[in-house]
Amino acid sequence: MNRTIVLGTLMATGVVSLAVAGYQAPAPPSAAPSPKVVEVEKVRDNLYMLKGGGGNTAVFIGSKGVVVVDTKLPGWGQPILDKIHELTPKPVLTIINTHTHGDHVSGNVEFPATVDIVTQENTKANMEKMALPTGVPASALGPNVFQGSGGKGMPKRTFKDTLTIDKGPDQIDLFYFGRGHTNGDAFVVFPALHVMHAGDIFARKGPPLLDGNNGGSGVFIGDTLAKAASTIKGVDTVITGHSTLMTWADLEEYARFNKDFLAWVRAEKAAGKSVDAAAAEYALPASYAGYANNADRVKLNIGVIYEELEKK
Ligand SMILES: [Zn+2]
Repeated sequence: MNRTIVLGTLMATGVVSLAVAGYQAPAPPSAAPSPKVVEVEKVRDNLYMLKGGGGNTAVFIGSKGVVVVDTKLPGWGQPILDKIHELTPKPVLTIINTHTHGDHVSGNVEFPATVDIVTQENTKANMEKMALPTGVPASALGPNVFQGSGGKGMPKRTFKDTLTIDKGPDQIDLFYFGRGHTNGDAFVVFPALHVMHAGDIFARKGPPLLDGNNGGSGVFIGDTLAKAASTIKGVDTVITGHSTLMTWADLEEYARFNKDFLAWVRAEKAAGKSVDAAAAEYALPASYAGYANNADRVKLNIGVIYEELEKK
């Protein structure tokens, strides 16, 4: 391998591990601009999942207009709008952001200023700061598109625990159950369609990004997921933050995965193990075969949880 290939491999590896962690970094500025390809997956007759360019976007075509959940990395708002125009002539009325991260909110500024924008209240506060997510290097963070946007793209409406938007076949229920990936993770339910967008609190089957800088918590994430799984009824299909569609049983399993991880970390700490020693001992439980095993993320998460436990 020559030096260029090795460097390229290292960079690619870095991007992959960040993506696995639940935060998808934008391409480095030095990279040649690549076409922004939005891939469409039909979830229901009037609900689509748009992939590429950061977190998964949901496009819900209601009777009056379109509701968009999450808007990807900087520069991906217009490609989302272009794709929506291929799907429906109806206007976009509302954006819901599941949480503050730049790979889920940055496209907001490219939508018309008339579009309503709804988030959990802590997410609005986080979007006013756009703090660097825990464990994500500054070099991997895209630009803060809200600096200089004059308020465009920022939430106009917030909720604390629940909010219902519209009714009948257009109804959307928003829920907040506590800290997890951040301290503002919204679960977005389309009751008539039996579908939910979980955002990055369920980004994929693997260790979560616990973004302490934005209020995330490894002590609470399992409980928060379990509360969502036991409270929300009638959903059979889950849109994940960065992976494929999942089932409700997958969500329940992911809650257990996070609770089991916390119990294991607590035991390691009680046994006097350092973060490094615990990380070296970690093995993915056999019951979670098929989960991504991201050693760097596991070590970071052990550190985050140790710190949380020490604060108590
Ligand atoms: Zn995220």
